[in-house]
Amino acid sequence: MRAQNTVSPVVQEDERQIEAALRPTTLSDFAGQPHVREQLAIAIEAAKRRGEAMDHVLLCGPPGLGKTTLAGIIAQELAVALDQTAGPVLQKKLDLTGILSNVRARQVFFIDEVHRLMPDIEEILYSALEDFRLDILIGTGPGARTHSISLPRFTAVGATTRQGLLSAPLRGRFGIVLRLDPYDEETLAKIVNRSANLLEIGIMPEAAREIARRGRGTPRIANRLLRRVRDFAQVRANGFIDHEVAQAALDLLKVDRYGLDELDRKIMMTIMVNFGGGPVGLNTIAASVDEQADTIEEVYEPYLMQLGFLDRTPRGRIATDRAFDYFQVPRRTQFGGQPPLF
Ligand code: ADP
Repeated sequence: MRAQNTVSPVVQEDERQIEAALRPTTLSDFAGQPHVREQLAIAIEAAKRRGEAMDHVLLCGPPGLGKTTLAGIIAQELAVALDQTAGPVLQKKLDLTGILSNVRARQVFFIDEVHRLMPDIEEILYSALEDFRLDILIGTGPGARTHSISLPRFTAVGATTRQGLLSAPLRGRFGIVLRLDPYDEETLAKIVNRSANLLEIGIMPEAAREIARRGRGTPRIANRLLRRVRDFAQVRANGFIDHEVAQAALDLLKVDRYGLDELDRKIMMTIMVNFGGGPVGLNTIAASVDEQADTIEEVYEPYLMQLGFLDRTPRGRIATDRAFDYFQVPRRTQFGGQPPLF
């Protein structure tokens, strides 16, 4: 599956454990996102002083930017327990009512991919978040009645990669809405250095920078590249990562100086070469590069748009002049409207 690509921001099965080991546990250890950190620091401090549950928090942003990490940090800083689940995991109302009926006062309840909750499960959450009340329907048919249980006040932390897909009533239940942005190179280099320290990997500052530069603004990807580069350093060098080793390893992984990999290149080449620069529909691109449309839309396109290589228009995707320059493809005009075969 494509999601196993080196530069995919989606977590891979075999890296969950190592990710957990690299997770910062305090706000001061969490690099970057100053705006998010400050708002959280205030909310945490205020809740602690009042001895109350903190307001519910919604964390929005692409995968791999630290949403799960922040949920853990919030619980840690509040010195309360953390329970977690995810939208797609909750299949039946009972799954959620079961968790909620065990919720403890002031604890953090983290719901990942909160935009993927089923509608009837989402409804249970409305009263739980707003009134700390759990409505359970007992029996069926005309004899059915609703039984209300009051819940202790707790803090829900929701995470979503697609804020636009969140229903307005659910979004409205979160008092604090925070957006995480891609990290700049300097912050990402700090994260790489910190991870190298924890993993006891020797690395030069320029090498950490090189990894950060190709990390697509995403700590998860930068940390993964660091581990791949470490493998290379151990097998092909003396285990130490200097700039040259980092460059050679990353080139071998076919991750270019912008962090683009083969699938990014294929997507761009399809638009530029096969379709004269576009516009071309997402499904057509997906069929040409043999990847799921969802993955292209959620994982690949945001970064290509961020780099200014791709635009989404109502008629389809188009490649920008910048993309033609970077990939050294002659301009679309020469195709005279008839796209050549890729
Ligand atoms: P998300 O939930 O947004 O997909 P995670 O919280 O799982 O992302 O973060 C992915 C990895 O990146 C984790 O291993 C975490 O340690 C690391 N990470 C994310 N943000 C930061 C940060 N600001 N500082 C240090 N490490 C980070």
